[in-house]
Amino acid sequence: MSPNIPKTQTAAIVTSSDAPLEVRTDHPVVQPSELKPGECLVHILSTGVCHTDLHARKNDWPLSPKTPLIGGHEGVGEVVAIAEGTPNAPIKIGQRVGIKWLAYSCLDCEQCRNGLEQSCPNQKLSGFTVDGTFAQYVVSYVHHVTPIPDELPSDAAASILCAGVTVYRALKYSGARAGQWVVLPGAGGGLGHLAIQYAANMGLRVIAIDTGAEKKKLVESLGAEKWIDFKETTDIVKAVQDATGGLGPHVAVVTSASATGYQQAVDYLRHGGTLMAVGLPGHAKLESSIFWTVLKSITIRGSYVGNRQDAVEALELAAQGKVKVVFAVKQLSELSDIYEDLDAGKIAGRIVVNMPK
Ligand code: NAD
Ligand code: ZN
Repeated sequence: MSPNIPKTQTAAIVTSSDAPLEVRTDHPVVQPSELKPGECLVHILSTGVCHTDLHARKNDWPLSPKTPLIGGHEGVGEVVAIAEGTPNAPIKIGQRVGIKWLAYSCLDCEQCRNGLEQSCPNQKLSGFTVDGTFAQYVVSYVHHVTPIPDELPSDAAASILCAGVTVYRALKYSGARAGQWVVLPGAGGGLGHLAIQYAANMGLRVIAIDTGAEKKKLVESLGAEKWIDFKETTDIVKAVQDATGGLGPHVAVVTSASATGYQQAVDYLRHGGTLMAVGLPGHAKLESSIFWTVLKSITIRGSYVGNRQDAVEALELAAQGKVKVVFAVKQLSELSDIYEDLDAGKIAGRIVVNMPK
């Protein structure tokens, strides 16, 4: 038996990039009888606010989101219905699951078979091409929601589903080995503060780049060995190289939402180093010296969220208490102010919204 499902709900809706965000209390809830095979209905308890939600809200990428749009893709909630005609659903009613950016992929194409589910041509993206988690009830997909380990409270798990998964995968594919240096431009933000912790768990030594006293305190408390304030440092390349004793870091995982975080990476990386591109400024070009990229045998690699297995692994480390999201709790009615603070670079760690019951 499904629990009682209301006909209407509270949801934050973007009607266009220049109209104010609307938090409505009368948004219709998709009823269990309306679900299509393979879909489930999730009652959201907590959801993180990612800088990607702000890009979608501002429509500042080469790809545009659907409108009207309910954003959000770091949601944790309880399964309240599974569509009829869904054989072998790997989840049960009442189970806590996570909704991530990649809401759906076909699992049958070449990209999915290779584990690159996030590049599936039939993909659905939560809070971008389908409605996301800034609502009390969300339609999702039984094969793509991620079970939440019992040890993890919902608000503590939420931001692992995007920020955590993304930096976990970027580090996993960076080739970095224990004892090596990784530099993290954007270290004080949502993705960056989790990258410090996943890196520390891999035995890496961390140089954090960001700005301001609050972010300095945060990154140092999480295990960053060196701190560079990008607004106060005139020669970033020298500062990064000096921090490693002269040769430069082995890996850079860039999570700043602006192009500036990328600018010096090829210059400060060690010979043989790898630049993992993660932050998503919409219209910037990655400018680096071709000559030095070749002579230093630099690898430049894009890294886009993660697949289902990356999500399970990233959550497992959080469940063991080895990685903790540092977050402040806010209400859905405050979403516009949260976006303003994100835009101004004022948020150290993450904001998590606890949904109205
Ligand atoms: P955030 O705003 O919480 O963090 C970004 C941080 O970068 C801030 O702390 C800011 O002060 C810092 N910063 C800005 N300019 C900098 C510079 N020049 N040098 C060093 N630090 C700088 O944002 P977030 O939620 O962590 O997201 C960051 C970016 O990653 C966004 O563009 C987002 O869309 C993108 N993202 C990418 C993926 C992916 O799959 N690749 C997944 C999630 C988010
Ligand atoms: Zn995200």
